[in-house]
Amino acid sequence: MQKYIVNNIKLPYRTSKDAALSIAEKSLLKFFSKNSIHSLVISKRSLDARKKDNICFVYSVTAEVSDTREIPEKKLLAASTVKVSEEALAPVFGEENMAARPVVVGFGPCGMFCALLLAEHGYRPIVLERGGDIPAREAAVEKFLNEQVLDENNNIQFGAGGAGTFSDGKLVTRINDKKCSYVLKTLVELGAPAQILYEAKPHIGTDILKTVVANMRARLEALGAEIYFNTKFTGFAASARTVTKIQTTRGEFECSLLVLALGHSARDTFEMLMEKELSFVPKAFSVGVRIEHLQDEIDKGLYGEHAGDPLLPKGEYNLSHREGERGAYTFCMCPGGQVMAAASEEGGVVTNGMSHYARDGKNANAAVAVSILPTDFGENAKNAIEFQRTLERRAFALGGKNYFAPAQTVGDFLGGACGTLPTKVEPTYMNGKVKMADMHELLPPFAAKLLENGLRDFGRKIPGYDAPYAVLTGVESRTSSPVRIMRGSDYTAVGYGNIYPCGEGAGYAGGITSAAVDGINCALHIMEKYKCN
Ligand SMILES: Cc1cc2nc3c(=O)[nH]c(=O)nc-3n(C[C@H](O)[C@H](O)[C@H](O)COP(=O)(O)OP(=O)(O)OC[C@H]3O[C@@H](n4cnc5c(N)ncnc54)[C@H](O)[C@@H]3O)c2cc1C
Repeated sequence: MQKYIVNNIKLPYRTSKDAALSIAEKSLLKFFSKNSIHSLVISKRSLDARKKDNICFVYSVTAEVSDTREIPEKKLLAASTVKVSEEALAPVFGEENMAARPVVVGFGPCGMFCALLLAEHGYRPIVLERGGDIPAREAAVEKFLNEQVLDENNNIQFGAGGAGTFSDGKLVTRINDKKCSYVLKTLVELGAPAQILYEAKPHIGTDILKTVVANMRARLEALGAEIYFNTKFTGFAASARTVTKIQTTRGEFECSLLVLALGHSARDTFEMLMEKELSFVPKAFSVGVRIEHLQDEIDKGLYGEHAGDPLLPKGEYNLSHREGERGAYTFCMCPGGQVMAAASEEGGVVTNGMSHYARDGKNANAAVAVSILPTDFGENAKNAIEFQRTLERRAFALGGKNYFAPAQTVGDFLGGACGTLPTKVEPTYMNGKVKMADMHELLPPFAAKLLENGLRDFGRKIPGYDAPYAVLTGVESRTSSPVRIMRGSDYTAVGYGNIYPCGEGAGYAGGITSAAVDGINCALHIMEKYKCN
């Protein structure tokens, strides 16, 4: 059976998707008989709302065809059709013996998918996670939101599922890797909605993600993996630059290879690894604030008179504004979502965003961040972390030192004022636990200025974006890892033959899907070297 994809089928958004299947079939009939076309499925759907009077969905349809004749590529392209070869994950197995089971630190997307691939091939990994399982983590997050008591190991950054568990669960990625489809298919098997297989901007939502993570745990355990929650990796012993044992809060574990899928917030672990002379370099990252609008108004700005039509998804945007070597841009937009209190260190305030699958909250939120370059903090990995930490402590102080977040209306921020209380847009951070403050006191002056210019520019792109009653909350400091742990082409850390740094914390991913794919690549490298004992 051959696979073909018919692309660029553009239809007014109200047209049924069956029309896309008919158009694809008609196109394929130019090359093949009806009998040889066996299945037609929508494999991608994206929204084109650039013209508000002609909002369309653009479809790709994948067909299985039993006719094996080669059709010239030029002819196929003229019909917007391509032939695809499906590349399965095909591990190659090495010869080296493992004296002990592989240890994966971190139960976020990277660690989960690395462990899954290893477990599927019989390597029976041990997984260590400093935070709790889903129920314990939910309880800790609730306590923080309700009583402002922060658990430094169990919070929005740490615990089962990693940083993305309390998120919008957006799965969009810029990496172009066929392993992304393995990730999506696995997530669907574990309970994610099937639409993520074809939507151009797939998302799961925190409500469904929690089930997916719990099912991932069950699958791993059924495959022979052992998962230890509330177990922090704290150190290791090495001989000839090879790790032999690791120390954890649960005692020592024998170790013949160590995967570090730590995420970007494991600052204490980074410090320990720096002392052990793993090679860290600083990286550019971004800092800024969360902005909140009414979702209805974002929908109006994007869809005009069609706003509110249930056939259209909740409005989503991605905006950017460039000035020389820096930019202001929006990311991690959460339609119908809420701003999350994402601190993991005492004495710091951090914002981020999440939504449920239905995205049915009143507010839309997104990060609006500006570029921070290594030259802003002395081009040193420790300073990069300290730069983020300083902002978080400043946000804590501005918020009143009780984990309330500093907030400001856009009108005040752009108008040089401070203290106007929110009206139309009610801040959702900790159900409104914010203190009005001036973001100019929070951010470095160059960053605040670029943020101002960016917001004005975005107001020209989406009417109402810079409305005076929109609300800013800060600080958005954990946008990506500020450091990279250097590794070779075989994925081992520079200087250590059996440590595998991977995922977002090591500086090799920027979101759920790319972190998962990096974890899969890491597992493939491990299997290529070691045999399954
Ligand atoms: C609120 C929020 C919303 C987000 N929304 C999205 C989104 O919609 N889409 C998207 O693509 N990305 C989103 N992100 C980013 C995304 O979550 C991360 O890119 C992704 O989780 C990175 O995966 P990872 O496995 O590399 O690291 P993480 O998910 O951070 O996982 C690392 C894990 O390692 C554990 N760990 C750390 N140190 C130790 C130690 N010493 N011992 C034991 N365990 C340890 C941590 O507890 C953590 O669970 C969001 C992040 C947050 C915080």
